[in-house]
Amino acid sequence: MIDWQLPRYGRGPYDEVPPVLERVLRSPSLDEEAWRELWHLLATEGLTVSAASFAALPYLRDLARSGETVAVDRALELAGAIVAGVLQDHGADELVREMAPVIAELRDVLARRIGDGDVPPRLAVAFFRADLAFAGATGWSMAEYDFDDGFYSVSCPHCDLPVTVAIGDYGRYSAYRDWCEGDVRRRPLKPCSVERLGSLGRRMHDTARALGLLRIAEGLTYLFGQAECPDCASAFVVADQYAADNEPHHSSSGPVPTGGW
Ligand SMILES: [Zn+2]
Repeated sequence: MIDWQLPRYGRGPYDEVPPVLERVLRSPSLDEEAWRELWHLLATEGLTVSAASFAALPYLRDLARSGETVAVDRALELAGAIVAGVLQDHGADELVREMAPVIAELRDVLARRIGDGDVPPRLAVAFFRADLAFAGATGWSMAEYDFDDGFYSVSCPHCDLPVTVAIGDYGRYSAYRDWCEGDVRRRPLKPCSVERLGSLGRRMHDTARALGLLRIAEGLTYLFGQAECPDCASAFVVADQYAADNEPHHSSSGPVPTGGW
């Protein structure tokens, strides 16, 4: 039996977790049903987390270090989904702070796993997001990366005009979205060269490439490139404005641990 004093604050689940976790630990490469149940308990619908989710991170870290690829991948995927929920109203901020070293280890294990190559394509985007979550870039871990059909709504930092930014098959431009006439007053985006990406953009770009997400890697050079406001013509970095407009709001005190860039 796992000797696990599950923290009883915030919302549950409580008693349901240890037996399911035990089944996963007994057979982490084979028992898919147990993994499904664990997902349901710890990252409900892939989204909602609780104190139990963070309390499970050391076990997932151990599985991620086990060297058994199937178990490693499943553990990293679930841990990523849990840590992405760090800003939710889970009532477990103290526990999250205690888990900072575990999250840092998960980040290292994930980086090694990505470096080894052969990440199954179905996990590539999840791992891309997990890397950001483990690094404390929570907002970016949950952002949109649809560079086939990608549109971002940002506001001009100078005149506040709502600006539509397209990065996809429809083009790569900033524009004013007119509900009758479509995107008007288009101005082409200026991508950032890979060499000039800042540390966050560069890490995202390199991780995407390592995961075979070439479309995302290329789209990031536009996301971290420059747009012009269709009204006042001032230039701004799309990603900066997207981050400013979508800054996640934490439920209570203090910043969450981050590895820093
Ligand atoms: Zn403007």
